[in-house]
Amino acid sequence: MEIKDNQYQIQGVSLTQLAKDYGTPLYVYDGDKILGQIKKLQEAFSTVKLRIKYATKALSNINILKLVKKAGTGVDAVSIEEVKLCMYAGFEPQEIMYTPNSVSFDEIQEAVNLGVMINIDNIPMLEHFGTYYGNKVPVCIRLNPHILAGGNAKISVGHIDSKFGISILQLKHVHKVVDAYGLNVIGLHVHTGSDILDAEVFLKGAEILFDAAKEFKGLKFLDFGGGFKVAYKVGDISTNIKDVGNKVSKAFKEFCKEYGSELEIWFEPGKFLVSEAGYLLVKVNIVKSTPASTFVGVDSGLNHLIRPMMYDAYHDVVNISKLDGPERVYTIVGYICETDTIAADRKLREVQEGDIIAIKNAGAYGFSMSSNYNSRLRPAEILILNGKPNLIRERETFDDILRHQVQIEI
Ligand SMILES: *Cc1c(COP(=O)(O)O)cnc(C)c1O
Repeated sequence: MEIKDNQYQIQGVSLTQLAKDYGTPLYVYDGDKILGQIKKLQEAFSTVKLRIKYATKALSNINILKLVKKAGTGVDAVSIEEVKLCMYAGFEPQEIMYTPNSVSFDEIQEAVNLGVMINIDNIPMLEHFGTYYGNKVPVCIRLNPHILAGGNAKISVGHIDSKFGISILQLKHVHKVVDAYGLNVIGLHVHTGSDILDAEVFLKGAEILFDAAKEFKGLKFLDFGGGFKVAYKVGDISTNIKDVGNKVSKAFKEFCKEYGSELEIWFEPGKFLVSEAGYLLVKVNIVKSTPASTFVGVDSGLNHLIRPMMYDAYHDVVNISKLDGPERVYTIVGYICETDTIAADRKLREVQEGDIIAIKNAGAYGFSMSSNYNSRLRPAEILILNGKPNLIRERETFDDILRHQVQIEI
């Protein structure tokens, strides 16, 4: 988002005009930004065989999936529905990694039948897999290295008390199962959580994975998951992807040499690819002063962007209807009948009813975590590509609220 010709624009498209044309609340994605992030990652790992598996759950509109596919990525899916969505968007089964947690074996069988790579995260499932498929279907194993990383307890998933992955301490047991069924393990995976800051944490995870990998024959790839941190506020440090690229590539090449074959290195970025590309545009319904604060009430809330309330996430907000004039301190709140704070005590250019507020970093875990709570409609989505806005999801209507409800005689 930049100021040009006296308006906030993305690729020359005026954001206030988009709000007028398509209404609010409105999710807007900058396609160039997504492509730029993919390129950065590709460049940072240009000396190794990199495969990017975009984490579908971050933003799962089929047009976003098509866009990242065109840029050469595969995908990581965490539900059978995401697997199907990715196939619908045009991914070949072999480009899809399926990383489920706590799903039934039926769902895993369904995924095997579709031809996608399965990433198994517990020993009982590994045994089921062995019983059914033996060595016939290649498989990846998700390990939990017990590294505590990530910005918030809810998003760090690699620690000792996490439900994800097979504990690195159970490796002996894993080998017994692998040997007993002759499993064809071609990949090992770790995902330590979201908001990992620096190369050191990645390297720590990498060392543990390298050690484990030496004990497996016939590996084709190592998957380091996602979790690169992006800047949410001015002055935030984001993952220095070049630094991570240099250090991890170097360590990876040394490992490959020792292992005796050139493996692929996989990453599953979600946030890193789509967070900064997304904006949620909302309209100011009311400006209300109380003894302690001036609240700005907008036509959206935790039903559309749950991150502030769920993860205590900081999202930058800008009054894009005002380019100059004095700033005042406001607390931006949603219209949901709950405490529904989007941004507390922020300086914005003087806000009036009808102004449009842009909520930044709304690309990842924004729309994909939205709901109809309070029987509200979900927003439309716009993807800006080649300097043109494209509607990629229609705004919901009242019919959508009634859809699937069954009326009985009361
Ligand atoms: C959510 C998830 C990711 C993506 O995490 P980000 O923080 O968005 O990069 C990657 N891999 C797996 C298995 C995940 O569950």
